[in-house]
Amino acid sequence: MAVPLRKCIGCSKIHPKSKLLRFVADGNLLRQEGFGKGRGAYLCKDIKCIERVLKNKGIFSRVLKVAITMPSKETLVNWISTSK
Ligand SMILES: [Zn+2]
Repeated sequence: MAVPLRKCIGCSKIHPKSKLLRFVADGNLLRQEGFGKGRGAYLCKDIKCIERVLKNKGIFSRVLKVAITMPSKETLVNWISTSK
């Protein structure tokens, strides 16, 4: 079976979906969600990619097609470090 591939919005590299974290829009907030329907944004579990999306502030809004209030760096780091 083919491994599902997704593009990280931080580094724009293609990775197996299992190596990435998936984010969805919950209103204007960002929520980390592994599975589910709808549009998702994917990010490497890597501090460098967190820093890239924090610099590129509109990226989640563009990918998710809704105005997103960005979480703090601490929140993103926490999501990434606590995910399996
Ligand atoms: Zn990345």
